[in-house]
Amino acid sequence: MAHDETCETASIQRVNLLGMPRHKLEDFLRSIGEKPFRAQQILKWIHHNGIDDFEQMTNLGKALRAKLSEVAEIRPPKVARQLDSKDGTRKWAIEVGGNNLVETVFIPDGQRGTLCVSSQVGCSLDCSFCSTGKQGFMRDLTAAEIIGQVWLALKSFDAFQSGKGRVVTNVVMMGMGEPLLNFENVVDATHLMMDDFGYGLSKRRVTLSTSGVVPMLDKLGDVSEVSLAVSLHAPNDALRNELVPINRRYPIAELLAACKRYLDKQPDKHRVVTVEYTLIAGVNDKLEHARELAEVLRVLPCKINLIPFNPFSLSDYQRPSKNAISRFWQVLIDAGYVTTVRTTRGDDIDAACGQLAGQFQDRTRRSERHRRRAENVEAEAIRLV
Ligand code: SAH
Ligand code: SF4
Repeated sequence: MAHDETCETASIQRVNLLGMPRHKLEDFLRSIGEKPFRAQQILKWIHHNGIDDFEQMTNLGKALRAKLSEVAEIRPPKVARQLDSKDGTRKWAIEVGGNNLVETVFIPDGQRGTLCVSSQVGCSLDCSFCSTGKQGFMRDLTAAEIIGQVWLALKSFDAFQSGKGRVVTNVVMMGMGEPLLNFENVVDATHLMMDDFGYGLSKRRVTLSTSGVVPMLDKLGDVSEVSLAVSLHAPNDALRNELVPINRRYPIAELLAACKRYLDKQPDKHRVVTVEYTLIAGVNDKLEHARELAEVLRVLPCKINLIPFNPFSLSDYQRPSKNAISRFWQVLIDAGYVTTVRTTRGDDIDAACGQLAGQFQDRTRRSERHRRRAENVEAEAIRLV
């Protein structure tokens, strides 16, 4: 027993390099008495070549490889299940311990491939239309678990140095969780996405979506150039308080001002914020909402992405009709906004926005309940005998 515990501790103490951005990896190398420039070589092995074994890092000396194997590791999270949709969408359920799963979704679209990445197990913010919110909050993902989703996706497409060209061209932090409530890990992971020694994606192709944690948005502007999407979903505070409870702390005017400050901090002055607006029938989809939205957004350089609500079992909300969506869209277009409507993909594998993890988790929990029930029945049977 004591022996097992020692082994366990020894393996826990090895530092996982997968989630370390360049500056942290350099610090780590210094801390073990090595030259910081090695970081670039190691990053390339991990993120360009998909290597998770130091022995294969042939441009590192033998002694360094041995030392790294002793004190460090490259440990991606484990895939519990992979599902493929007929439309090419692929979804992974990723094990993060304690019977918890998070989901990652790949959505191909012509030359583009967008990976939707999770940042937390569950979410504490409880937006009324979101299935992740209904699960409550379990824990933050580590930076390794966040960037590991990109790593695993490329692995599963055999796309590390395969000559297939870029498979993942865009990453959106729009999976489970509120990225700004897991600030440091999300910033580390997005740095790796945008670093040339990491995944080399341009800042326009890495998007962080937030429900509006205003103080963290200001912090983000100081350290990141990631593209910003904001989940607005309502044109006034009374309605937004109902749909996105964090609005009671940081109301719309404060949120939009923080978005503007974020843009002002960016060196490139042509950037805009994407405003996400989930359309829910009879709740926020009336023409007067569209007109009010057009007015309230005047203060912010932005484009608008309308997301037809994706129904799930724990919600009574409905998706509006195609006509209602199109009328809402027209008002915004007429008001001069670049406005898109998000198409739902991966319907057959429940990969749509806001549905992530519910299904897998339900099934896991259900099978867990079945197992326990079966055990109880067995115990009961033994008692009776
Ligand atoms: N927590 C972050 C990012 C994850 S949610 C955020 O809220 O922005 C990603 C997007 O999916 C958000 O715009 C969110 O509002 C939207 N969304 C959540 N549930 C949805 C549902 N059932 N139907 C449509 N969009 C949903
Ligand atoms: Fe959390 Fe975003 Fe879902 Fe709101 S919409 S509960 S912030 S994951």
